[in-house]
Amino acid sequence: MRRKIAAGNWKMNGSSAALSELDALARLLPTERHADVVICPPAQLLSQAVSTAKPHSIHIGAQDCHMQTAGAFTGDISAPMIADTGATYVITGHSERRAAHHEADADVRAKTQSAQAAGLTAILCIGETLAHRQANRTLEIIADQLAGSLPDDVTADSLIIAYEPIWAIGTGEVATLPQITEVHDFIRGQLTTRFGEATGNSIPLLYGGSVKPDNAATIFEAENVDGALVGGASLKASDFAPIIAALAAS
Ligand code: PEP
Repeated sequence: MRRKIAAGNWKMNGSSAALSELDALARLLPTERHADVVICPPAQLLSQAVSTAKPHSIHIGAQDCHMQTAGAFTGDISAPMIADTGATYVITGHSERRAAHHEADADVRAKTQSAQAAGLTAILCIGETLAHRQANRTLEIIADQLAGSLPDDVTADSLIIAYEPIWAIGTGEVATLPQITEVHDFIRGQLTTRFGEATGNSIPLLYGGSVKPDNAATIFEAENVDGALVGGASLKASDFAPIIAALAAS
């Protein structure tokens, strides 16, 4: 049985007042929870978020880390620094960073390695553009991103993979269940081929891209979907809680 994970990516949204959403989320969730909950707020909120979330057993993650541990990298934050805040997760290779910060697969791989070395669990994002999908190149792109972004030594405790078709992020357009099933089954196959059955089958796979309360249950029907990486709908506890409930019930 793989663990189920609902991860929220707040992106560049939220000041300290937004932390009240963590308390609100905890009030809406059952005490007996059947899914892990992770919130990735912007970096300036990490320490406060860790303190607020701890009593609620909600995990906190960062949205990016530098590949080096320290040095002359103005404005960046390293994996050991994230760990020092008490956060335990970090997103690597989000498509917005790949696009806006020109992060290549090799960068994502180095960041993921740095995260694992610091004791963080990396939520490594991959996904195709609309042009790739329309050209029937989705699986080829996914295979390339996995080959280039994944370190050689991975464990199920230190790695989660999020499949996020870029055309579905923040657009309201969700991949269909057959599309999600095809890609997640393909990723699972790639993982077992590269890392062996035991490790490959134990790495959780999340779907991301316009997951909302009204489509979550359908997405979680796919066998190789172990949870979701949620952007917009993670900002409000009243939207995120029903997604978590749908995952727990799946
Ligand atoms: C994301 O930011 O990873 C994401 C999936 O966003 P949204 O849920 O808003 O599409």
